Amino acid sequence: MKNNKNLKTWLDQMELTHPLVIAGPCSAETEVQVLKIAHQLKNTDATVLRAGIWKPRTRPGNFEGVGEIGLSWLKKAKEETGMLTATEVANPRHVELALKNDVDILWIGARTTVSPFIIQEIAEALKGTDKIVLVKNPVNPDLALWLGAVERLYTSNVKKLGVIHRGFSTYEKTRYRNNPEWQIPIDLQNRFPDLPLILDPSHIAGNRENIFDLCQTGLDLNFNGLMIETHHDPDNAWSDAEQQITPEVLNQYTIDLRIRKQEGDEIEYKNKLANLRTRIDVIDHKLTEILGKRMIIADDIGKLKKKSNVAILQNKRWNEILGKMILEGEDNNLSEEFILKIYKAIHQESINHQKKLNK
Ligand code: PEP
Ligand code: MN
Repeated sequence: MKNNKNLKTWLDQMELTHPLVIAGPCSAETEVQVLKIAHQLKNTDATVLRAGIWKPRTRPGNFEGVGEIGLSWLKKAKEETGMLTATEVANPRHVELALKNDVDILWIGARTTVSPFIIQEIAEALKGTDKIVLVKNPVNPDLALWLGAVERLYTSNVKKLGVIHRGFSTYEKTRYRNNPEWQIPIDLQNRFPDLPLILDPSHIAGNRENIFDLCQTGLDLNFNGLMIETHHDPDNAWSDAEQQITPEVLNQYTIDLRIRKQEGDEIEYKNKLANLRTRIDVIDHKLTEILGKRMIIADDIGKLKKKSNVAILQNKRWNEILGKMILEGEDNNLSEEFILKIYKAIHQESINHQKKLNK
């Protein structure tokens, strides 16, 4: 798929807020719940109501969505509030029912994007549709797989396309439910600057506390929209209770977020600078995290040396590391002098750590 200016047309043509705000519950639970949330959202910047009807759950036995009946609740919410509606589709039957019930935006979930077989079936069921289709990233950090899904839809003549960044699974526990790995959406944006990019901070965070900061980072990185799980009574939601916020909180967030408009020389300069600085912040965060991880391993080596009564400083090993890193530095346009300074500092910190173990 080539970058194509038409990719963004649907977003420009919709007279919606910038950024596009999609909000609503993780799951449609009852008709009363869907209508209540929709009416509360009507007074906010949200112009699209989301609600999962079919829910992909990790383990059987959890609430798996209300199914087809929920589509009539979405329809009613649209009639009563004028909001557009959005739901997840995971197979051709879902597509057929969502189209029949006039859902405006169909999204493909992270667990579906991983499977080219299912994506192909969905693409065929959607052939030529003029509905908007948003593709969430696959659960694993694989940009090619994500773009492959978008391309299958594009080839199936689905032209109102966009992507949703919802973070990536990790085995290791991090502060996020799904690690943002910002570099991946940044790379995607560099390759397809006209493919609308929406942030789902709810599934990245997995809690309420981190949602605002994630939204701000997304806007600083020029994301075009936000999809935020919103519930009138988050604590009692039937799924993803920990990460949902109320429509009131959502409203406050959209007031407090710094939203960058795209016009004017001065503004364009500021936008670009903010974007580049956020990209640097993302990398700096990774650097400290990685240095921390390196130090934990250095501590383990220290413990092992202590147990076997071996000296901390091992010159031969150290010179090997330096030689290797100078070569890798050259490949990455980093001078020998710089590599030596950095690695001396890292090495010194490792020795300090190991010395502490010996006290
Ligand atoms: C959702 O949006 O409720 C959902 C299930 O998302 P994801 O596919 O990102 O896990
Ligand atoms: Mn959810």
